[in-house]
Order: sequence, then C-alpha cells, then structure tokens
Amino acid sequence: MPLSFSQLSTYKRCPRRYEFAFVKKIPRQISAGESFGASVHNTLKKWGELEEQTSMPSTLVKDQLRLFVEEKSETDQSALSLEHLFHLWHSSFIVEGYATRVEADIARKRGEELMRQFFDWWSREPRTVLAIEKGFKQEILVAEKRVTISGRFDRVEHVGDAVRVIDYKTTSPRTQDEVDADLQLSIYALAAAEAFGRPCTELILLFIGEDEIVERRTTRNASQLKDAVTQIGFLAERIEEGDYHPTPSVPKCTHCPYRTICDASAV
Ligand code: SF4
Repeated sequence: MPLSFSQLSTYKRCPRRYEFAFVKKIPRQISAGESFGASVHNTLKKWGELEEQTSMPSTLVKDQLRLFVEEKSETDQSALSLEHLFHLWHSSFIVEGYATRVEADIARKRGEELMRQFFDWWSREPRTVLAIEKGFKQEILVAEKRVTISGRFDRVEHVGDAVRVIDYKTTSPRTQDEVDADLQLSIYALAAAEAFGRPCTELILLFIGEDEIVERRTTRNASQLKDAVTQIGFLAERIEEGDYHPTPSVPKCTHCPYRTICDASAV
C-alpha cells in the first residue's frame, strides 16, 4: 500500500495521532481551518484548469477553426479575470467545519481577500501551466526495500526546459530554513523529475493570506534528496512495525482533533 505524504507527516508529528487517523480510522469533524484550506484549493484547481483551457487554442490553430478559436480565446481571456476568480471562490466555498453561519460568512468574505492576493501574484508574470492537481506515485528504494509514496501536485509550471512545483498553503508563512528542510517539497522534487521527464529547478510554497502573499522558493540538491529518502525509509519502517508511541506537546496537542480521547494529551 502506498503511503501518502499526509500519512508520513501525521506520523512525524505524533505516531499516536497517526494511529487514531489511519489505523483505527476514528471519524472526526473537519476543522474550520481545514475547510477553508479545501475551499481555496478547490477554487485554484478550477482556476488552473481554466488556464489550461485558454492555452489550448494556440496549439489548435487551423484554418477551418480560426474563427471559432478567436471567439473562444476572447471568451476565455475574460474568464481569467478577478471577477471570475471571485465567482469560482463563492461557488467552491465549503460551509462545513464552521461553528456558526456567521463564522462561515466571515471566512467566505476573508477568502475574497485571499483571491485578490492570489490574482495579483498570478498576474505578475506570464505562466505556462503543465499540471494542476495531478496525482503521483513515487517509488523510493531505501536499503533494498521499496516504499511507494503517493501525493498530488497543486500546480506545476514550465520554466525553460525545467519545471517548477507550487504548493498552496493557507497557514502562516514558514521560515526559509523550514522550507529548505521541508520533506513534502523533497518528495515533490523526486516525483516531479520522474513524472515530467524534466529537472525540477524550483519548489515554491505559496502562503496565501488576506494581507499578503508570501512566496518561499527553494531547491533540492542530490545530498538533500538522499537525506529525504533516508527520512522516508525511517518513518515507513516505524509505521510498518506499528510503533505508535505518542509524542505530546502543548502546540501539537492543542491542534490535535483527537485530544479529547487521547490519554497522552498535553492539554
Ligand atoms: S493529543 Fe497529542 S499525544 Fe495525543 S494523539 Fe494528539 S498530538 Fe498525539
């Protein structure tokens, strides 16, 4: 069975939390933050698909289609507007996860500001989309053992002969050091090179906030990728052994959805 990045990261945070979520499969309520993040991802997925559609006509120009293509191109250009992004946001907004209707309405309004920030970022340079919400399975060989990691690219763009992977975040921005050591980005670097047959020269975590958008860029060299493979192998082995020893701490347990049933909780 492939391991998803979400499973690895949950295990890394707290093995007991992994046990609750993926072994015992204890149902839990989606939080407001998770709901908001899912709404943003759904919206930007639709936006990316629109971008892919608008780039199609240039590859389809044929005499007999020229008139149709020109009309479609005009329509599509207007689809890539801030107004249309707002429309996508409102039609993608998930109301589950909020304590009250008022809280959901505040989040919905806040989302408009995030969309404005995203649109401003997106408009800064011409972009060629290669993939949107594309799933992958990456096989990794660790000490003669094969581990398959599954994941999903939010957005992949062409940059010259290479690719750039962009992952959307709605959390507070992380520091550059944290991004440079981020395991998820290492997995993306490994998977992108194989999935697209081109080197992955840029990895970006895009922290979309209502007041600003923070773009943290990083890269991975061969030694960093080797470290990531070792780290994945270590986590996969402990998961296989069924080591679910809890690692409580106030920050981790405060945001853990299982804190009310966990006897090791620090809060
Ligand atoms: S409450 Fe704390 S110790 Fe328990 S599962 Fe959650 S993060 Fe781990």
